Amino acid sequence: MDSGHLGFKEDFSKTFGKSLKQSVFLHEHANFKVGGQADYFFAASSLPDLVQAVRLARQHSIPYYIIGGGYNLLFDDDGFRGLIIKNCVQGINKTGVAKIEAYSGTPIRELVEFCIANTLQGFEFLAGIPGTIGGAVFGNAGAFDRDIGSFLTEALILDKRGEQVWVDRDYFAFDYRQSRLRTNRNLLLKATFLLQKGVQQDIEDKITENLAKREKKHPPREVACAGSYFKNPVLPDGKRVAAAYFLDQVGAKSLGIGGAAVFSDHANFIINKQEATTKDILCLALELKNRVKQKFGIELEEEVIYLPAELSKP
Ligand SMILES: Cc1cc2nc3c(=O)[nH]c(=O)nc-3n(C[C@H](O)[C@H](O)[C@H](O)COP(=O)(O)OP(=O)(O)OC[C@H]3O[C@@H](n4cnc5c(N)ncnc54)[C@H](O)[C@@H]3O)c2cc1C
Repeated sequence: MDSGHLGFKEDFSKTFGKSLKQSVFLHEHANFKVGGQADYFFAASSLPDLVQAVRLARQHSIPYYIIGGGYNLLFDDDGFRGLIIKNCVQGINKTGVAKIEAYSGTPIRELVEFCIANTLQGFEFLAGIPGTIGGAVFGNAGAFDRDIGSFLTEALILDKRGEQVWVDRDYFAFDYRQSRLRTNRNLLLKATFLLQKGVQQDIEDKITENLAKREKKHPPREVACAGSYFKNPVLPDGKRVAAAYFLDQVGAKSLGIGGAAVFSDHANFIINKQEATTKDILCLALELKNRVKQKFGIELEEEVIYLPAELSKP
């Protein structure tokens, strides 16, 4: 933080009628429960506030980063030099027989509940995945061979110039845990999804079945982690194989560094066992990658997103 940010802080207070939060601990905003202080922090609860916060950061050349629920994020021990914008813009509407439109800060849990209440079939695989729609579209969240991108029809994004633009599914170039948002850092504001009319009991049964499957292999809710740490790699024959298959064979489950450890029931979950630092987690992840590379010649790629303390200015 320096006095050069005075104009930014003043503009922020004028625009929002309250002062900007400063020196906010990020471990409180990430399920991994690690991360130092962010210089500035703003929770946006309306679309105009979200857009305006980004505009102000850009105008004043303050690095900024949007977060949803913080379920797939690893913040830096040194926090973040700039503005963290937490997207709390929520709401879902039915816009057709089986079409819905939702703001990107809506929790996935509410999306699933909305589908049950409106007997809409398709999103049963999302039950139990924590986070917001924005984070889910960013990483094309999925389970049981389905992903959210396949249901998206249109979306409103905020592009690099600060313009709001409607785009279609092709824009996102969805792939396994991948969308264009990962590379262009545009923001998802709203998305429209096309589902199918279903039968309430069938939808609920499928969700119960999926949740039971998840419970068997995932850490309990109170465990600090960010989901699967690595993406499942593709082999030369084109087959995608669970990263845990390789991690199991390099002794992952017995490994730990500092307060970080591999979850005892699933080798692809790194957990914050006891007051881990980000450094502990990164070192453990590197050790796992090295072992898999050495034994199988496979380069594991992180699914969890590490946010370094310093980002380039917008
Ligand atoms: C126990 C557990 C189980 C999990 N299981 C699964 C699973 O089965 N399948 C799966 O796919 N994932 C899983 N995850 C990972 C996580 O739940 C998903 O990635 C989820 O979509 C993250 O949403 P979020 O709002 O928390 O995103 P965050 O962690 O807050 O952010 C993740 C990324 O998305 C970006 N982002 C967030 N909102 C927006 C936006 N509006 N516009 C543009 N970019 C945005 C952020 O900048 C960041 O880079 C699991 C995580 C946990 C902890």
